[in-house]
Amino acid sequence: MYTDQRLQEIREEVNLCQRCALAKNRLHAVPGEGPSQVDIMLIGEAPGFHENRQGKPFVGQAGQFLEELLQAAGLTRDQVFITNVVKCRPPNNRDPLPEELTACQLYLDEQIALLKPKVIVTLGRISMAKFVDAGRISAIHGRTHNVNGQKVVTMYHPAAALHQPNLRPVLIEDFARLKKFVRAGSAPASVEAEPEALTPAEDPQPALQANVLSNSTHAALPTPGKSEEQNPPEQLSLF
Ligand code: URA
Ligand code: SF4
Repeated sequence: MYTDQRLQEIREEVNLCQRCALAKNRLHAVPGEGPSQVDIMLIGEAPGFHENRQGKPFVGQAGQFLEELLQAAGLTRDQVFITNVVKCRPPNNRDPLPEELTACQLYLDEQIALLKPKVIVTLGRISMAKFVDAGRISAIHGRTHNVNGQKVVTMYHPAAALHQPNLRPVLIEDFARLKKFVRAGSAPASVEAEPEALTPAEDPQPALQANVLSNSTHAALPTPGKSEEQNPPEQLSLF
């Protein structure tokens, strides 16, 4: 089937990719993994130490916690597609650079187009910034946004809870709410409307937003109504 074949080709292209400088020091690229028919796609930031060694996403400590979170959502790892916005490990796990995000985005964009997930779950602010550029993650974690017809749920990164244990129950609760998006048998689950993305009027801190990327890195699913003036680039804390 075309989708499976193309997803496999993308894996192979990523494994050979030289589009940015992250190719130089990688042991393994991490294209992402999961079935070609999924309701939920999880998008993290970039491979870390263990992912770079194994070529698989979320296999370290954050990955272990992610599996717990999936359990809270009534899911197992093999029922979702897991990938990252950047497919090769940045040195010392630094944030991906804008040019790395731009170079890598075609792979994720095509994975999304092929999988057509019911819901995209972003993990952390770098992934969130691809879709939603209003609001800090502390204000909009667990929220459902409609981004040009695509449902996007913005979650804290699981690694955040490893540094801040008080975020553990918050993440668990946010993931538990994903249950309503999971297909019941073959019948599509009914999806209740959630509060959409914050509008500037609702956002208590409209000047602060999580988008640290240039607009060009948001090409796949731009948020309607955003503008450069509303969204000055600003560096926020990691989680
Ligand atoms: N953190 C991420 O964002 N992605 C991974 O694959 C692993 C850790
Ligand atoms: Fe290619 Fe993405 Fe790896 Fe850069 S990070 S080399 S663009 S696969």
